[in-house]
Amino acid sequence: MAASIQTDTHADPHGFKRRGLLFVLSSPSGAGKSTIARKLLASEADLAMSVSATTRPMRPGEVDGKDYHFVDLEGFRRMVADQEFLEWAHVFGQRYGTPRAPVEAILKSGRDVLFDIDWQGAQQLHQIAGGDVVRVFILPPSMEELERRLRGRATDSEEIITGRMARAAGEIAHWDGYDYVLCNDDADACYAKVRTILHAERMKRSRQTGLIGFIRKLNRHHPDD
Ligand code: ADP
Ligand code: 5GP
Repeated sequence: MAASIQTDTHADPHGFKRRGLLFVLSSPSGAGKSTIARKLLASEADLAMSVSATTRPMRPGEVDGKDYHFVDLEGFRRMVADQEFLEWAHVFGQRYGTPRAPVEAILKSGRDVLFDIDWQGAQQLHQIAGGDVVRVFILPPSMEELERRLRGRATDSEEIITGRMARAAGEIAHWDGYDYVLCNDDADACYAKVRTILHAERMKRSRQTGLIGFIRKLNRHHPDD
């Protein structure tokens, strides 16, 4: 189900070029990844959200094209056949996929991409883009609190909430496929940690593709030259 991607390089404020990041947030449904993602997008000008396509029905308050591209099964299958997805997967009996073109456009424009996708998507993106992918998994403080949050969100039927709770343990079992695992106890504290991870990952030496040129320039002024 995975395709391939080209990560572009772009400049950071110090003039070094760096490779664009694919920043993945996953969690069992209801643990708070959308909440964290919203906070992150509001504070990070150089970060843009990948809007997935899904066959699931729209929830109250959701906006087509903003939260998801809501498509029917036939439309989704056509997108798969036309290789429009970077990755896609079955989740909760529905299909979800990451459209490739917007991700490439965001990376080209010099920004990083934020993904709210499940462990299957994280795994596929990692196969495609390897070291350019940073995977963060968010845990709920307890299963009781997870259920409270799902109910408090008041967007799903009882049947859907029961299904999401039943699948939560299975999703949590994939915690070891992630680079970072955090507990979302307090939303602001968890957001601050995710932001720290993003900032540190941006500065990784392996991503600073302009570093060699900068070092050479520094050495040009060496007294031995
Ligand atoms: P997800 O995107 O993981 O499905 P949401 O971000 O939609 O989860 O959060 C589920 C519900 O829990 C929402 O009503 C949200 O406001 C609430 N929530 C998120 N983080 C916290 C937190 N740290 N403490 C209490 N409630 C939270
Ligand atoms: P929800 O229906 O609550 O919005 O999302 C259900 C699950 O699908 C979440 O775990 C979410 O991260 C995942 N998901 C959303 N979009 C995608 C996608 O494009 N690809 C994959 N693999 N998972 C997705």
